Amino acid sequence: MQVLYKNTRNASEKVTALQAILNGLAKDGGLYVPEVIPELGLSVEELSSMNYKETAYAVMSKFLTDFTKEELMQCIDRAYDDKFDTPEIAPLVCADDTYYLELFHGATAAFKDMALSILPHLMITSARKNHVTNEIVILTATSGDTGKAALAGFAGVKGTRIVVFYPKDGVSPIQERQMITQRGDNTLVVGIRGNFDQAQTGVKKMFSDPKLNEELNRAGFQFSSANSINIGRLVPQIVYYVHAWAKLFACGEISADDTINVVVPTGNFGNILAAYYAGLMGVPIDRLICASNENKVLYDFFTTGVYDKNREFILTSSPSMDILISSNLERLIYRIAGEDAEINAALMRQLSKTGTYEITPKMREQIAVFYGNYADEEETKDMIRELFLDTGYVIDPHTAVAAAVYRKYRDETGDDKPAVLASTASPFKFTRSVLCALDDGHDELTDTEMIDVLAEISGSAVPRPIEEVKTAKVVHTTVCDVDEMESVVRQFLQIGEQK
Ligand SMILES: *Cc1c(COP(=O)(O)O)cnc(C)c1O
Repeated sequence: MQVLYKNTRNASEKVTALQAILNGLAKDGGLYVPEVIPELGLSVEELSSMNYKETAYAVMSKFLTDFTKEELMQCIDRAYDDKFDTPEIAPLVCADDTYYLELFHGATAAFKDMALSILPHLMITSARKNHVTNEIVILTATSGDTGKAALAGFAGVKGTRIVVFYPKDGVSPIQERQMITQRGDNTLVVGIRGNFDQAQTGVKKMFSDPKLNEELNRAGFQFSSANSINIGRLVPQIVYYVHAWAKLFACGEISADDTINVVVPTGNFGNILAAYYAGLMGVPIDRLICASNENKVLYDFFTTGVYDKNREFILTSSPSMDILISSNLERLIYRIAGEDAEINAALMRQLSKTGTYEITPKMREQIAVFYGNYADEEETKDMIRELFLDTGYVIDPHTAVAAAVYRKYRDETGDDKPAVLASTASPFKFTRSVLCALDDGHDELTDTEMIDVLAEISGSAVPRPIEEVKTAKVVHTTVCDVDEMESVVRQFLQIGEQK
């Protein structure tokens, strides 16, 4: 059965998976959602004998029905190869009665690799099948990890270009170095004088500007998005939750009809939405624990039913979660609004006009599966240290936010059923915060010097992508104001009024 994709803001638009992947975002700013969430159609026994790639095919083929088996398998093969430093792709590590699902073994040592290593292949395949001759221009706003993972995915891929905007002072030094050392003629990395939300708003504006899009088309280009709103990213993220469930069964931790909890450090709401979809497909998830840092918009939303982004934007040690507008939440809102595009569009209009909206009690009832909480900077730091002292396992600040929230959840509810916690970055990507949490007295070291010290203290090897960044040459130096973003893109593509 073919799965089509609906626009969350316009009931009359329905597209194929290929178009949804190519467009990224609908013209009116709406997101594409599958018409139905397909069922897994496989028992946990069957899934438990599958490796990562087989699981990926089993899950993704249910959503991306326009791809032939050969096409999809080829995309999967090219994505989950030796770019990953373990054939397991996403290992499950038990520490302190929690199953850490390590999603950081790919090309850039962060969870974004799970989806961004396959998106370029899905996109090129979609373009070819849709007879697209334009060159595809990926526009991305990043709060840190997406940028490098997208660059690594698209660099050198024929028929594509990629432009990445990041907040100049809102990412870690190592994240910044990873991006500005990116090679590949088809890549451009730009620091903006503003925060992530401003970068994202600027990108969305370009996507939905008809005049710019028309000019682009005349010059032989078209925009697409690698941000987590693209279903070509969302769908690959469902895979590891299915795989983790099957692994817990395979190792005897759970039986076929046991339920599990899932804990996710959340920013743009993409990763946790993928877990929610895994649940709808048939993974028996009891609670979805949504962990925020001090930018706790989602915690407030789950506890009050009011989404309110009107607040101070706080820079934390988990920058990839420093987000006030969680774009993917719209897909959940649409669903609990009874898949009514008008209701959803009205709420989203209200969000962009006033910065806030409230859902009805009936809508709230449908999201009882979510538990939201947050961890402040002190709790995050304590979590890193305590887990290390207790178990020798070192986690990054994003993962630590989730671990701290999970601890609150367990204390509050006494619920200790097996839990899978999404571990979203290598601790080596956030060396300064991690090292300071583990051990005092390294403040004067540079970030690169800290890498070796962390390796020594933690007794683990420095991941390849981090090792490489120490010596790589800086090739991107562009910095601009928020209102210059469009003109930077025009210059890169050499089209029209470069203001
Ligand atoms: C992107 C990211 C997150 C947040 O994931 P969302 O899908 O945006 O909710 C958490 N941790 C790290 C390290 C990330 O890169």
